[in-house]
This record gives sequence, C-alpha cells and structure tokens, in this order.
Amino acid sequence: MRIGFRIGPFYFSQRIGGRRRKRGAQSPAFHGTVVDGYGQEHHCEHRHRTLEAARKCAKTDPRLRSLAMIGRPDVASMTPEEYRQHSYDTDPLYRERVNREREEAERTLREWKRRRAPMSEALIGSQARLPDQGTIRS
Ligand SMILES: [Zn+2]
Repeated sequence: MRIGFRIGPFYFSQRIGGRRRKRGAQSPAFHGTVVDGYGQEHHCEHRHRTLEAARKCAKTDPRLRSLAMIGRPDVASMTPEEYRQHSYDTDPLYRERVNREREEAERTLREWKRRRAPMSEALIGSQARLPDQGTIRS
C-alpha cells in the first residue's frame, strides 16, 4: 500500500507496511520430472512441497506423460519381432540376458561337436578294423 501527498510542485510517496512476502519464495519447491526418448528433461509447472509429491505428479500428470513419450516408439503397435529388437536396443538387462543365452547355446553346440567327434572317429576306426577282426577269427 502506498500513500502519497502533494505539496506545491512536490509529490511525496511512501510505501507503508512491511515487505510484501512473495508467495512460496522461501520454501523450496519440487517439480515432477520426466525424460523423453531423446534424453530431454521436462518439468511440471507445479510447486510441490515434497519430492514424493513431485514424483507422483511425474507419473500421473497427463502433460508430462505425453512429453515423456516424445521420441519413444509406440510399443503397443509393434510386432513381436520389432518388440524383441526394441528391447534388445533399449534394455541393457534384456540385451545381457540374450547375449548370455546366445553364448550358452554356442558353448553347448561346441561341447556337442567335441563329444561327437571322437564317437565318429571310433565308428570309422571300428569299420576299418572289421577286416582285421575277420582275419583274426579265421
Ligand atoms: Zn506437478
């Protein structure tokens, strides 16, 4: 509130009362934050009093929800093959699992080949020995 008065050519003005308190300037505010597919952060415009409330807002606010979808492929419209590829590209845990399973499969295959090798050699060997056995018997 200001009061002013004029004396001749002079005008005096004085603001009275204490300093006007800016609403919420003192208290820290939390903003709901989401990250879109390009790694760009988006914040909500509210001033949440707790981090918890801000996190909840980021999960539920429709504007933030749609901002978070920027640059993200629409998973619901993907074929299973596309989804598998998408998961492989974007999910490090899935990628690690797939690579581990692939490695295991290759190791198993190598093991099988290794075990089969002496077996077929033995088979060839026995066929080669057949005439010998025949000569021993006669
Ligand atoms: Zn918010």
